[in-house]
Formats: sequence, structure tokens, C-alpha cells
Amino acid sequence: MNDERSNPANFIRQIIDADLAAGENDGRVATRFPPEPNGYLHIGHAKSICLNFGIAQDYHGTCNLRYDDTNPEKEDIEYADAIRRDVEWLGYHWHEVRYASDYFEQLYGFAVSLIEQGKAYVDTLSGEQIREFRGTLTKPGRNSPYRDREREENLDLFRRMREGEFADGEMVLRARIDMASANINMRDPVIYRIRHAEHWRAGDSWCIYPMYDYTHCISDALEGITHSLCTLEFEDHRPLYDWFLDQLDVPCHPQQIEFARLNLDYTVMSKRLLNRLVTEGHVRGWDDPRLPTISGLRRRGYTPESIRDFCDRIGVTKKDGIIKMGVLENSVREDLDHRAPRAMAVLKPLKLVIENYPKHEVEYLSARNHPKRAELGTRELPFGRELYIERDDFMEDPPRKFFRLGPGREVRLRYAYYVTCTGFEKDEDGNVVEVRCRYDPATKGGDSPDGRKVKGTIHWVSASHAVTAKVRMYDRLFQVPAPTAANFLEQLNPHSLDLLVNCRLEPGLAEAEPEQRFQFERQGYFCIDPDAPPEQLVFNRTVTLRDSWSRRGGKN
Ligand code: ATP
Ligand code: MG
Repeated sequence: MNDERSNPANFIRQIIDADLAAGENDGRVATRFPPEPNGYLHIGHAKSICLNFGIAQDYHGTCNLRYDDTNPEKEDIEYADAIRRDVEWLGYHWHEVRYASDYFEQLYGFAVSLIEQGKAYVDTLSGEQIREFRGTLTKPGRNSPYRDREREENLDLFRRMREGEFADGEMVLRARIDMASANINMRDPVIYRIRHAEHWRAGDSWCIYPMYDYTHCISDALEGITHSLCTLEFEDHRPLYDWFLDQLDVPCHPQQIEFARLNLDYTVMSKRLLNRLVTEGHVRGWDDPRLPTISGLRRRGYTPESIRDFCDRIGVTKKDGIIKMGVLENSVREDLDHRAPRAMAVLKPLKLVIENYPKHEVEYLSARNHPKRAELGTRELPFGRELYIERDDFMEDPPRKFFRLGPGREVRLRYAYYVTCTGFEKDEDGNVVEVRCRYDPATKGGDSPDGRKVKGTIHWVSASHAVTAKVRMYDRLFQVPAPTAANFLEQLNPHSLDLLVNCRLEPGLAEAEPEQRFQFERQGYFCIDPDAPPEQLVFNRTVTLRDSWSRRGGKN
């Protein structure tokens, strides 16, 4: 068993334990993660990845990465490459990479075998007629007039479908099961359709393509998968999964087990909707940090560990539900709290001038890199007469409970001194542009020898040493907890991105590397955007801090 992660028991692991105890599958456990390369992976896929790869790891089994690439029009190598990158980034290693398109020849052979057994036929009804003949939940279907076509004719037509003699939609190959079945999926489902389209891997070698239900179970069997884990909407497809495998001479019969898909509030996870957000320019690409895609979360500053932790926390059940975004945020917050060094960053700067501090003098004050991890050491922060503080940390006429700066009030500058506000200056429009204060040299390091207490501690940077950066403050992508497919564009949050262009950071941050993460004290967790031009420092806000100290200015 893997000792580095906690692997909560779930009903799927219980099934596997029972199978192993019963000596099933010769003690083997083999899973697969089967994405369709028609979009980027999202946090819902992460749930499936953690489940499939996690089980393979813990049971010393195998997990394949299988591309379910049977829809030539929608798929692309860009997506396939992104999927590999994301799975690896999450920290998993596949046993083999497989492609459903590698099985096209075998799938064709199996279809011929179905025809030979009288269990498949070529139907020349139109798509619309097929739908109409299928019936409804309450009404049985009707047999197609072509259902009893002669075997030889079926074989001939199917061969000619493959040869390219017919146009798209002219005919299909259907399984011959039961048009009266209570399960609509069993009413002679289509298993091959004609598509004269180039496939990103198979090129133009095929003009007929197998359908998902038919392809999936056979691919699983050919790969020796033992447990084929999929989401609940496939529960009603399981009889079909089993039916195909029962008719065909395949190496094994994997067990399909369904689990609830992940839904998160304030976002969308359907690839169709994500695709629209990207292609219609509502976000900036698939890795936009506002998207729930793995690449977006990564760019936002999420760690693989935090995503795996989230997947552990939400667990695996058969019950559908909506998980709160706060659960995901908690996972990353906890991970970054431990991992991220602290830094001082003034996002909306206001000049603070210390009247009694010697002009041109600079001193270096020691600051802890992490309050709980002494091994991360300390750094020296330059301090001088002119600083920047956060605009919100000063009020001209503050209420009594405001513990930050205001005329006559005293606060602690973190790691530095106590300062007392002596005045401020405004521009012509009445905006405060500079705050003046005096410092108490005896309070160096942040404590007063006379036991005098201050209620507030604020952060600062030295005006002449600070580096300028842009900071992207992200908020929820949607205004409503459950965006609807029909209206999701109107439900977008117009304030999901607030770009701050004039932030001043402590100078050491100029050396930070792409994707490096920090806690900006009192602000939240931030990471360097990997795509910013080299001469520009751009940070993405990963998540805010939870505690109220960050907002009110409290003790450190
Ligand atoms: P969409 O409906 O958005 O196109 P999909 O399920 O068709 O998504 P696939 O690429 O086929 O996307 O998914 C690959 C695997 O990931 C499947 O096994 C699927 O069940 C699983 N998966 C997809 N979305 C989720 C989700 N939200 N929660 C858990 N598993 C998911
Ligand atoms: Mg799918």
C-alpha cells in the first residue's frame, strides 16, 4: 500500500477488495483513464484521474491513459498533448498510452462477427426515422423494416460503408438487441456511422467510426482492464457494455462500476460550455486561471498536492451533489500555508513618509520567511524614510474600531517600528496622496520597551527599493452558484478579473521564478504567472486568506 497518501476507503475499493479476496482476475487490478481529446481536462477529470491512478498505485496494479478518440471532427492533437501534460503534472504515471483509434481494425472485425451472428444489421432509415422508431421511456420502439436484412447483404453493405461508397448519414450499422427493451440504450443502438472526415491520428484511412458504447467496452477488454470506472450517467449503459462483451470473443470481461461525477458551484464543467467560453473569448484560453481546468488551476497557483487532497476529501460515492468551491479553496489554502514563503506586497500603494527618519538612510530589518517553519529562514528587508503602505490601511476619519492608521493613531509596521500618524496630503481631487508619520526608534523589531500596545500591524515596502508588478485578482467566474447551459453567458461575473497594475513588492520578489508561490502577508496566496513577458512581473492571486487578521489589521 502507498504510505504517503491517505486513501479513504470507498465503495469501489470495497468491491476491489472483495474481488481480490475471491481470487478474481488472477489477483490483478487494471484501470484506465479514458478522456476524449476534445478539450482540456478539468477538476472533474481530476477526480476520475485520482480514482483510477490512485487505485492502480495502491493495489500495485496498472492504469492506462486511453484516448477515446472516435469523434474525428471534434478531436485534436493539441488536446491530446494537454491531457498528457495535465495527468503528469498531477503526479501520475500511466502504464501505457493507448488510443481507441488503434483498435479500429479490431473493432471492425468484431462488428463483422456481430453481423455474422445475426446480431447487427445495416439500417438505411434516416437518423430522424431511427429516433422516431426508437420510442420513448413509456412507449416501446418499433423494428426497423431493415432489421431482418440478409446476413450476406449486411456484410456487403458494411464492407462498402467502409470502402467509402456511401455518403455521411446514408446508413448506419446497428446492434440487433431488443426494440421493446425497457432500457432505451438496448433498442438496437447504432454502433457505426459514416463520417467522411480526417482523423487526427488515423488520417483518412477510415470513413466509418465506431460509437462510444461499442468502442469503450471492447477497448477495456482488449487492454485487460479489470475495473472500468465511469460516471453515473453510464449506469443505464451497463447492460449494453455487458451485452457486447458477451457476444464477442474478447480476452476478458471487465466490470463497469459507476460513481457520481464532481460538480462544483460557481463554475461549469461541461467541455462544450468550457469550449464556448474559450472560443468566444469570454476567458483567455483554456488555461485562464478562472477556469476549473487543470491547466487553469495550475496557472492560478494550485499545487498538484492540493488537487489530490481535494479529491481525497470529496471522496467517491454514488450520490450526486454539488461541492462548494470553498472546499477546493481550503485544500489549496492549507497546502500553501505550509509551503509558501511569506512576502510583503502592497497592492494599492499609498506613500508613507517618516518625518523623523534620517534622509537617505537605509537599514535592513530581519523578517521570518514562514511563521511556523523556522527552517525556511529569514530575509533582510530594506527600510527607509519613504515607504508604501496599503491605501486601505489609512483613513482620514476612521471609526473607533479601525485599528490601522489615521490622524494621531499609532500602529506597528510589521518587522519594523511603531509609527504615529502626524498628517496627510491630498491632491486637487481630494484623494489622499501621502501620509506623514513619526517613528519610535525604541520599538525596532516591533515591540515597545515601555510595554505600550498597539492594536494594528500593517505591511509596507521601501519606496526606493520596491519592485513594481501587476497582480491579477481573480474572483468567481459566475455570479450564480449553478450556471445553466441555456444562460451561462449572461451569468458570468463581470468582475471575475481585477487587474492591479501598480503594485509594489519587496525587492527579493524580482528574482522569483515562474509558478513560484508566496503568501503576501494579509492578502492571500499568489503565484508568478508563467506566461508573463520576462521583463514583467505578473502575479495571479490563487486564493485569499481566510482569517480576519488579513482584513482588519491585527496582531502578528
Ligand atoms: P463532458 O461531458 O464535459 O464532455 P466527458 O465525461 O465526456 O465530459 P471525457 O473526456 O469523456 O469527458 O471524460 C473522461 C473521463 O473523466 C470519463 O471517465 C468521465 O467519466 C470522467 N469525468 C468527466 N467529467 C467528470 C466529472 N465531472 N467528475 C468525475 N469524473 C468525470
Ligand atoms: Mg465523454
